[in-house]
Amino acid sequence: MFSYRHAFHAANHADVLKHAILAQILDYYGRKDAPYWVIDTHAGAGLYALDGEWAGQSGEVIDGLDRLLGHAGPPALVARYLQAVQAFNPDGVANLYPGSPCLALHLMRAGDRLRLFELHPTEVEILKDTIRHQGRQALRQTQIACEDGFTGIRRLLPPPPRRGVILIDPSYEDKQDYKKTLQAVRDGLQRFAQGCYAVWYPLVQRTQAHELARALERLPVEWLHATLTVRKPAADGLGLHGSGMFVINPPWTLYEELQAALPWLRDKLAQDEHARHTLARGEAQKRSPSRK
Ligand code: SAM
Repeated sequence: MFSYRHAFHAANHADVLKHAILAQILDYYGRKDAPYWVIDTHAGAGLYALDGEWAGQSGEVIDGLDRLLGHAGPPALVARYLQAVQAFNPDGVANLYPGSPCLALHLMRAGDRLRLFELHPTEVEILKDTIRHQGRQALRQTQIACEDGFTGIRRLLPPPPRRGVILIDPSYEDKQDYKKTLQAVRDGLQRFAQGCYAVWYPLVQRTQAHELARALERLPVEWLHATLTVRKPAADGLGLHGSGMFVINPPWTLYEELQAALPWLRDKLAQDEHARHTLARGEAQKRSPSRK
């Protein structure tokens, strides 16, 4: 697992989908006065230099964030995300890219709290340094644990204000991550049923990815499921041709915003004629009365 460095993929098409949805959720949570927590089970390094050693080498930003820049009138969900990215690049050139921790801090208010898990020994040190550089308030708001986020969230749920967003964003390099993600969601819902859980997963040719999505859709909760495919899957099965975000207890405004944003994102991020998007939602299933 220690071979994965998110910097290599920073601002790619999957980050765009994930972070645009996360920004919408946090914007929604910030509209009520009551404070909330964000719990990020797989935080990464926090902030990425797009011209740095890793992102600069992979160039994944070219087929991600870069394709969204310079267009008039993007949909609200995309505009909010781009505004947040621009806040880290006051000189107008997108060189710094906020990962989920910095994006969250940017959108949170002083009374909101951020709890981060990151297991990689190098990434967690970069993350601590990054948060220190965000200023005193960010330091007061944030706690970082070098611990397994799949199990670490248990002790944080429910969060004290009983309002919370939980991002579960593993790299899935280890195929056990699919099972662990589902288990973390189930554990989470038992402790904090009203939480908003956002699960990112890759569209890859692995049965586990399809099974995770189907299992999440069967949970007895309100959910929203968005996917974005940017190209035909490679014949060798390598590479990421798309990704999905599964949101439990989504803001009621998210579905409509995604209806407007997903076709726009698909058009801008399409690498061939196989690009497509899907959007679905489900209601909490009522338990059928047991028959005796
Ligand atoms: N959420 C980040 C973002 O959107 O900017 C990206 C996270 S990246 C996809 C996944 C991260 O999880 C990697 O930095 C990896 O080192 C870390 N990781 C892997 N297994 C973990 C675990 N069990 N608990 C916590 N972190 C883990």
